Amino acid sequence: MVRAIVGANWGDEGKGKITDMLAAKADIIIRFQGGSNAGHTIINNYGKFALHLLPSGVFYDHTISIIGNGVALNIPYLIKEINEIVEKGVPRPKILVSDRAQLLMPYHILQDTYEEARLAGKAYGSTKSGIAPFYSDKFAKIGIQVSELFDDEILEEKVEKICTLKNVMFKYLYHMPELDKTELLNTLREYRDMIEPFVCDVSTYLYNAIKEGKNILLEGQLGSLKDPDHGIYPMVTSSSTLAAYGAIGAGIAPYEISDITTVVKAYSSAVGAGEFVSEILDEAVADELRRRGGDGGEFGATTGRPRRMGWFDAVASRYGVRIQGTTEVALTVLDVLGYLDEIPVCVGYDINGEITKDFPTTSRLKLAKPVYEYLPGWKCDIRGINEYDKLPKNCRKYIEFIEKELEVPVKLVSNGPGRDDIIYR
Ligand code: GDP
Repeated sequence: MVRAIVGANWGDEGKGKITDMLAAKADIIIRFQGGSNAGHTIINNYGKFALHLLPSGVFYDHTISIIGNGVALNIPYLIKEINEIVEKGVPRPKILVSDRAQLLMPYHILQDTYEEARLAGKAYGSTKSGIAPFYSDKFAKIGIQVSELFDDEILEEKVEKICTLKNVMFKYLYHMPELDKTELLNTLREYRDMIEPFVCDVSTYLYNAIKEGKNILLEGQLGSLKDPDHGIYPMVTSSSTLAAYGAIGAGIAPYEISDITTVVKAYSSAVGAGEFVSEILDEAVADELRRRGGDGGEFGATTGRPRRMGWFDAVASRYGVRIQGTTEVALTVLDVLGYLDEIPVCVGYDINGEITKDFPTTSRLKLAKPVYEYLPGWKCDIRGINEYDKLPKNCRKYIEFIEKELEVPVKLVSNGPGRDDIIYR
């Protein structure tokens, strides 16, 4: 059985925690898109971790962790991340890397950094991890596949082609040093030695695992609104964040994905620029939620940047849940809202005086003003409660209100960052 765990919003919904928790009963956990540009924060019996490239199932002895073909594979970063968790006492994880994954190279990071600097005030707020140049190169067919590392002839041809194209840009657009072919080839040979022990024909491996009835999790990065097709283009990421892409980015049949657990945040947060209708504009109010949010505040796991804060947006979340093909919702960080007397919920968008509940394209989204309903707060700490009926009445009302707006059952409620802070409904 294959379950995807994905985000409905702008990312940082708490997918890492839900994956780490569900991984207890899984055999295989797969990253299928993105790279080291976003982080998952996980708190378990080994301590607190910020994972960027490794799947959130690496903490168990019994699981296999897979980097699928859809991922932007930064090889030294992967090795560094493995060593870091092992140094903290986690048993060395069993990791497989798809032979069809492509390499995120140092020149992708350079290009990303140069481009953000060139755009200056109009930048996308990239984490400068090289993700956009990586995926552009993949589809421009000048990417380097893991399998190609083992063929010197192909590699030399590729490097020639890459240097010709990149150096025009590096020299004339960015006025920066050119790439050196020999150096690049040496780097690739080092990468080959580093990755060799992990390389696997992942789609065949998964085909057999599915036949054997293994329990498989696909772990998404970021959320629906950052999807390049269905999100707030162009303020999106460069690979699909949707469960459907799990089939492609892991190499399995789409109909095998039977369960889609979409993680929805009880309030909103976003990093980087882009439309954000329910953003809290009063900085003092936003700051209070930011300080109380997540575990130790809403700051980027990769960059440490303060996240932009907002109230729950039912329009964006319902759309985010629908576009994922959600079969169940996991509602997270609900405990954070316990300090509020009343909680605003954005239930509609006012676009030029017309109220809509349908999430529009970006050009219309720019015009949208939030329409709020106010729900009474519960004014207490709900951490430690593990039965739904024991939650305060106003808290249950908030959950049920959100569930009605989302039109999909909320089956999991997360009321704290730890593995056990969870209520099943
Ligand atoms: P991801 O990228 O979707 O995995 O999310 P992040 O790891 O960036 O953000 C989630 C943050 O919230 C982390 O610091 C988690 O430890 C924390 N977290 C997850 N679920 C809960 C919850 O239910 N309550 C609280 N207070 N924190 C949570």
